[in-house]
Amino acid sequence: MLDKIEQLNQEKVIEEFEELTRDAKRVQREILHKILIENSEAEYLQKWGLNGRTDPETFKSCVPLVTHKDLDPYIQRIADGDISPILTGKPVTTISLSSGTTQGKPKFIPFTEELLNSTMQIFRTSFAFRNREFPIVNGKALQFIYSSKQFKTRGGLTAGTATTNVYRSSQFKNTMESMQSPCCSPDEVIFGPDFHQSLYCHLLCGLIYYDEVQIVSSAFAHSIVLAFQTFERVWEELCTDIREGILSSRVNVPSIRAAMAKLLKPNPAVADLIYKKILGSSNWYGIIPELFPNAKYIYGILTGSMEPYLKKLRHYAGQLPLLSADYGSSEGWIGANVNPRLPPEQATFAVLPDIGYFEFIPLREMTRDQGLDESASNIHCSESDPVGLTEVKIGEEYEIIITNFAGLYRYRLGDVVKVIDFHNSTPELQFVCRSNLLLTINIDKNTEKDLQLAVEEAGKLLLKEKIEVVDFTSHVELSTDPGHYVISWELSGEASEEVLIKCCDCLDRSFVDAGYVSSRKTNTIGALELRVVKRGTFQKILDHFLGLGAAVSQFKTPRCVSPSNTMVSQILCDNVVHRYFSNAFA
Ligand code: AMP
Repeated sequence: MLDKIEQLNQEKVIEEFEELTRDAKRVQREILHKILIENSEAEYLQKWGLNGRTDPETFKSCVPLVTHKDLDPYIQRIADGDISPILTGKPVTTISLSSGTTQGKPKFIPFTEELLNSTMQIFRTSFAFRNREFPIVNGKALQFIYSSKQFKTRGGLTAGTATTNVYRSSQFKNTMESMQSPCCSPDEVIFGPDFHQSLYCHLLCGLIYYDEVQIVSSAFAHSIVLAFQTFERVWEELCTDIREGILSSRVNVPSIRAAMAKLLKPNPAVADLIYKKILGSSNWYGIIPELFPNAKYIYGILTGSMEPYLKKLRHYAGQLPLLSADYGSSEGWIGANVNPRLPPEQATFAVLPDIGYFEFIPLREMTRDQGLDESASNIHCSESDPVGLTEVKIGEEYEIIITNFAGLYRYRLGDVVKVIDFHNSTPELQFVCRSNLLLTINIDKNTEKDLQLAVEEAGKLLLKEKIEVVDFTSHVELSTDPGHYVISWELSGEASEEVLIKCCDCLDRSFVDAGYVSSRKTNTIGALELRVVKRGTFQKILDHFLGLGAAVSQFKTPRCVSPSNTMVSQILCDNVVHRYFSNAFA
């Protein structure tokens, strides 16, 4: 049973959320006012001549829409140690490095106390809703979380990924304790300098506390899948460690060894139990609930670029529910999942109207069945004037714009969302894709989602051979004339040539965008190329990003590799084992 006080606390959190969302329009006006007053000294805001006015209409007419590129010079000055009020009233003391996996290189973003507070607010909110349906009592969480390297900027500010800044805070620990789900692993493991060693120890800690684990989670689903793929390879070693109470020599970081020595005691009974469970499992199906019999659910961001990992995750999860985590970014949080029972593919995020001021650029799709408009400023869609949070319409897609306490004003995050419903007067959003176009050569326009659907469709052909697409990416090849799409696949085994040829044709046919189809028919886009890369190629890509300062916790495989990303292009190129060209339009 949930402790009475805890239950009351959670009801209070839900009631506060209900209250905030009942009059989201008013709350938005108040938040904008507060952001602009608190930061009125900021050079950036002064420049736009608001002259003390804080209403949404003036704000929209004076302050322009921007992207990270526009703010970069300001953020750079902050990172270089300029402590004058540049973007915010109070000086920024910490910098977040966004994962950079979507753009190719990490971006600097201000990280402030308010961002930390809103992170805790959103964690508490979605937990309260989750816990109503799936109560956690005195449990532990097996969290596959990792920190990035932290470093000092030229001006002496601490910089690390946003998740690292959060995990390092005392608020994070307190919030996890209050959710009755502290992490199984000691800090030395979370903040260890070597991701592979940390992952091994996370697994070991989970097994040590196997009957107390009630949640298995990570920030993004990719890390959970990676963890259990690793488990498949190292489980015997883990069992030996538990049996003998001695940590494998593969872990050589002294601080991790010291921390693990405190937890690890010889326990042959548990080692035998795990051994038996694994030998009894069929192809690792349902291994998570098998190993952690008291787990209530698996939790992490499962939407957007994480959807391709769902199949594998479901395999490991068996009957255990998969619950989608909230929606946010290094720049700031947006919405909480308050409908935890929805399957990941349908997950929505209710915008918290007091964590920022939000605007939405309506996007009108131009290209599917209607005429093509090459002059549209955004290639994928045409845009209109931004609307406010409570003015969005159900069924419509929008690009989201953030204004928040961390010095971002009318900032285009680059995400496309769809309004599914309203929770009181705040919209419930579904994440659609990144707004930057993925694949385009001439009049074709295919997004991350289109690519994902094509890969899903072609991947079905591999099932007969019991093979899966482990990971994938794409690029446009313009060195040939005409240019063509290249899709790179890493597979779980050796597929036959016959099937791969069919997969290649299927990929080509699965891009149903009218621009692509007509260009293929007229051969102004060449035959799609499928490249199969060696096992472990995507691990090399991950390692490359880690080397740039990214953290596994925030890693997202780049689904489209731009030619400027020479290192990733090179890794892919060096690891090709098979190439096929489609005959779909021959
Ligand atoms: P980062 O700042 O590196 O953590 O990346 C933030 C980006 O991750 C967002 O702009 C989204 O594109 C994506 N993202 C974050 N949360 C979700 C979510 N719940 N569903 C889908 N994509 C998400």
